[in-house]
Amino acid sequence: MNYEEPWGDEVGVGWAPIVMKCHRLLQHLDSGYRILQIKEKFGRLRYYFDSTVPYDSITYDIMHYVVNEAEAHCARTCELCGVEGTLRNNSGWYKTLCDDHAKEQR
Ligand SMILES: [Zn+2]
Repeated sequence: MNYEEPWGDEVGVGWAPIVMKCHRLLQHLDSGYRILQIKEKFGRLRYYFDSTVPYDSITYDIMHYVVNEAEAHCARTCELCGVEGTLRNNSGWYKTLCDDHAKEQR
């Protein structure tokens, strides 16, 4: 993984293509947009951003829609390898993983 990517190493490589697509779409909608933080929390993607477009604009609504879609996509994608996954709870330690990676983590 290339750590010069804007989210650094806060999310696994399985989610990187989803995060990259989200980032590109947001850049397209608002070239002045800034990533505040991208991380994994309780097995879910959290994508926080700041926008230069008005908060009551349709563009801002679309940006939130794009982020919600990316978070929903990650919620069904293994964070480690990118295939279909589900949220796992291993004694209070949450990760979205495929069956193979869930076995390895036990
Ligand atoms: Zn996996």
